[in-house]
Amino acid sequence: MDDIKANFIGGEWVAGHDAAPNVNPSDTSDIVGLYARGGSAEVDQAVAAAERAFAAWSRTTPQQRHDVLKTIGDEILTRRDELGRLLSREEGKTLAEGLGEVGRAGQIFLFFAGEALRSGGEVIASTRPGLGIEVTREALGVIGMITPWNFPIAIPAWKIAPALAYGNCVVLKPADLVPGCAHALAEIIARSGLPAGVFNLVMGPGSTVGQAMVDHPRIVAISFTGSVATGRRIAKACTASVPLKKVQLEMGGKNPLVVLDDADLDLAVECAVNGTFFSTGQRCTASSRLIVTAGIHDRFVAATARRLAALVVDHALKPATQIGPVVDEGQLQQDLSYVSLGQTEGAQLVCGGQVLNRDTAGFYLAPALFTEADNRMRIAREEIFGPVGVVIRVGDYDEALAVANDTEFGLSAGICTSSLKYASHFKRNAETGLVMVNTATAGIDYHVPFGGRKGSSYGAREQGRAAVEFYTTVKTAYTFAG
Ligand code: NAD
Repeated sequence: MDDIKANFIGGEWVAGHDAAPNVNPSDTSDIVGLYARGGSAEVDQAVAAAERAFAAWSRTTPQQRHDVLKTIGDEILTRRDELGRLLSREEGKTLAEGLGEVGRAGQIFLFFAGEALRSGGEVIASTRPGLGIEVTREALGVIGMITPWNFPIAIPAWKIAPALAYGNCVVLKPADLVPGCAHALAEIIARSGLPAGVFNLVMGPGSTVGQAMVDHPRIVAISFTGSVATGRRIAKACTASVPLKKVQLEMGGKNPLVVLDDADLDLAVECAVNGTFFSTGQRCTASSRLIVTAGIHDRFVAATARRLAALVVDHALKPATQIGPVVDEGQLQQDLSYVSLGQTEGAQLVCGGQVLNRDTAGFYLAPALFTEADNRMRIAREEIFGPVGVVIRVGDYDEALAVANDTEFGLSAGICTSSLKYASHFKRNAETGLVMVNTATAGIDYHVPFGGRKGSSYGAREQGRAAVEFYTTVKTAYTFAG
């Protein structure tokens, strides 16, 4: 706690201008550590180091890239318990959720270790005599990564691993609230055998460090995950910059979970409670709109409210805790303002929504459930990003689908039904990048594409084999052999 955790630039640990405390949201008297904050000078140094490293790294063999990624993934998995505790301590998700996220981060590195070995291209016959065509993929260069606070290790992992697998160099700026996991990841990467400068960490605020990355002429691409407002600003800057930057944005959601009359009630309640309230509702895939047909509505609401009342909201590291605290005071105030707005708009607050006192001073909020909501209300249209569920009553499946799609977002959508007909129709017609049948709206698997449509995402998909699209550029080579 005495020493300041430094930035990692060009293979060296480099102090910032100042440092900020990383505060445990379960117990604000617990300071996780002091973390350096950089500025535009550190971004310049990191980009220069990454540029110097690029020529050699982009020409390494697939075996070398595989070995480094595997070393990183193995260490993350070996230290899963310790890293999971760090994650829960700085972000506030429960220890079980923290361990799950760390496991996912480790597996992502192992997946992309394999992908590094599978890089290849196509040989295509020309339409003209004597010519051959090869289509190959090449690394982009120095890629800037800007990440949010709600998945402090998995999101950096799902950007860094494919970037390195395909031969790019990286400058990572984690969210200012949760630098701990990113710093721990940098320590692991530092001893993995990766050449100096290929990976760099610059911590600090988005308005300075993040902005300096977006404005930097020698960063060729930005991969961003965060809010819609920041994402839009970044896309504008990337497309206005000279040279143009490739950009990928993963942003918010207002994800629907449809519950039909023929659903298994227990399963539907489980999907709703997990999807809406676990991780304290601080997931881009949270099912914050519960769209329920009239025949099951009252039974569903009663059973969900009973489950919510029994959930243990407490310190993230206590074994019995099912819902940890909200991440900080600012987010807590935002959640409370939506709880109050929902009542003003005429929705019925069935349970929760009040601040809870626990043994330690943290940001505890009782999970809130609204009913009698209308999809035009702001609580049904805006991302709250907290443990707040909004139930919208509908007449039938057709109305449910129309309401589900009536949103500016398009990340994830779910349906609980025992009807193959409705499940198949919903999978085909939900206007989202992820769709779930009889399971929560979260996208957990590490080896498949993740991302959305409409206002939720922009640019190429992340994760799985789809990640190659963003982290490489295609070259078409013609050879005349006579
Ligand atoms: P945020 O937009 O406030 O911050 C995200 C990152 O952008 C942070 O690192 C921040 O420091 C940085 N930033 C802020 N201003 C910047 C600027 N001017 N230039 C460059 N960088 C800047 O988001 P947040 O509050 O950290 O995260 C919550 C949001 O993230 C929610 O909307 C959530 O839905 C979204 N999210 C989306 C996904 C997904 O994959 N779709 C996953 C997780 C979170």
